[in-house]
Amino acid sequence: MQILRGIPVSQGVALGPALVLDSEGFRIPQQRVGPDQVESEIQRLRVALKAAGEGARATEKEMADQLGRKYGAIFAAHAMLFEDPSLIAEVDGLIRKERFTAEYAVSRAMREYVKVLQGLGDQFFTHRSADLFDVEKRILHHLLGDQREAVHRLTEPVVILAVDLSPSETAALDSGKVFAFATEHGGRASHTAIIANAMEIPAVVGLGNFLADVSGGDFVIVDGTHGLLILDPDAATIEKYQNLRNSQRQQASRWVVQRDLPPQTKDGVRIMLFGNIEFPSEADHCQERGADGVGLYRTEFLYVGRKTDPTEDEHFQAYMTVLKKLGNQSVVIRTLDVGADKFGSLPWTGPEEKNPYLGMRSIRLCLRNWPLFKTQLRAILRASAFGDIRVMFPMVSTLQEIRECKFLLAEVKEDLQEDKIAFNKDLPVGTMIEVPSAALMADSLAREVDFFSIGTNDLVQYTLAADRTNELMATLYTPSDPAVLRLIHRVVQAADNQGIEVNVCGEMSGDPIYTMLLLGLGLRQLSVTPQNLPEIKKIIRLISLDDARRVAAEALNLETARDVTNYLRDQTRRILPEAVE
Ligand code: PEP
Ligand code: MG
Repeated sequence: MQILRGIPVSQGVALGPALVLDSEGFRIPQQRVGPDQVESEIQRLRVALKAAGEGARATEKEMADQLGRKYGAIFAAHAMLFEDPSLIAEVDGLIRKERFTAEYAVSRAMREYVKVLQGLGDQFFTHRSADLFDVEKRILHHLLGDQREAVHRLTEPVVILAVDLSPSETAALDSGKVFAFATEHGGRASHTAIIANAMEIPAVVGLGNFLADVSGGDFVIVDGTHGLLILDPDAATIEKYQNLRNSQRQQASRWVVQRDLPPQTKDGVRIMLFGNIEFPSEADHCQERGADGVGLYRTEFLYVGRKTDPTEDEHFQAYMTVLKKLGNQSVVIRTLDVGADKFGSLPWTGPEEKNPYLGMRSIRLCLRNWPLFKTQLRAILRASAFGDIRVMFPMVSTLQEIRECKFLLAEVKEDLQEDKIAFNKDLPVGTMIEVPSAALMADSLAREVDFFSIGTNDLVQYTLAADRTNELMATLYTPSDPAVLRLIHRVVQAADNQGIEVNVCGEMSGDPIYTMLLLGLGLRQLSVTPQNLPEIKKIIRLISLDDARRVAAEALNLETARDVTNYLRDQTRRILPEAVE
């Protein structure tokens, strides 16, 4: 049994057969053939090896012609591997003795080789393992050909293991067929993680290299609550996790019991607890768990995975769907927020940038693409005639930007008036505070808008200059950092001074170790992933505000992220031990 530790990003546990995706998305299921098929399987292998060898020779020639013999030689070495007698004997052996399919035998044998090379602990050999993956890919390509199975066409439930999954790939997963996923790369607040949460698929990311140790069909366990991937689990571990999975199901029904209890502190202060959603259907998840409404509707999914931009009516229909599910409750619609970690670029996002995290993304894009932006604003305004809708702008870094947004909103209002189309003339306008400059200018920004929403996912990233999707930055990237706490404190004070509402909608607000701190800093609204609503509600009901203020004051005095985290864990353990375990 091998227990690997990564970053927990979507809670819950799952057990099942692995579906291993390499960067080309091959599926390599563990399958056996009948005794009478062994010879034809060996024959398939021979044909594939020959074709793969020819392919490598062709690449060798191409590279040698284009770049010189030195580069061609790399592929000459690959070609020799396809004829290597010991590799062939090993794969043959797996087919004959175990009756594995040729593709499974190849993948199993190659992974053994990779493991040995990586185990030598020498950089040279570790890099050579990439060559072996390439060789494996070529053989599998010839063996599987058109049978490459797209992840979204799964026929049986699996646990997906991959180098990485993009947000769009994650969104395309069928949550009925994917028990969980675990990836080598990825960070805590990556969009992939947020979508896994939204789809309620247990997930662990940032595990580092592990794919060499598994083959498709191997039985694995993903513990998304503690960030573990368990390969080849022993019987006792399987039993433990089966029990955990069962109690998880029971717990889900227990949460329903507290759905109608108000998120009110021990001393009777009512906190507004909202849900974050990405898809209109998730408004149901908010309702099922007793949210006060939707505090953040990320609208990116209206734009991705399509060739044309969404029409005003498509926007309108999506917003109306959410409104209908929410009854009288409010929904904060955030305008398009793409770029960098979020869906890279869309067709109209312009030339590739050297540093897209600091480039043409989000509100900057919208302010340079008025027709696109106005289409969304018009739909939001139209929907505002039918319920409590608020609009919010993402990634605002200057006062000028928010003023331009308001100017365009006013223009769209005028157009609607001319067209005699109803809308809420007092549509509340808010801004995300997720760029340090906005946090520092919060007192001025507070005079421009009706509410703030602190986006800690990006605020942490930009304050600490630590990529939210990079597992190597996981220690640096934390909302516990004193610099982040001070910025949040400043923003809440600025909102209070101006008498506007403020909430926190980044992943921080869904982590129970921060609830006391946030209430103590003065927050009276939180917006969290629907999965986290029950736990956050539970902890709010155990907090007294005096206690929370004391905790916040103490936390603000600490000088390192580690001290803050340890302190907050201890304080949380005091009132809800299970939240920290
Ligand atoms: C944030 O940055 O905290 C946030 C809520 O927005 P997103 O995660 O969509 O960037
Ligand atoms: Mg953000």
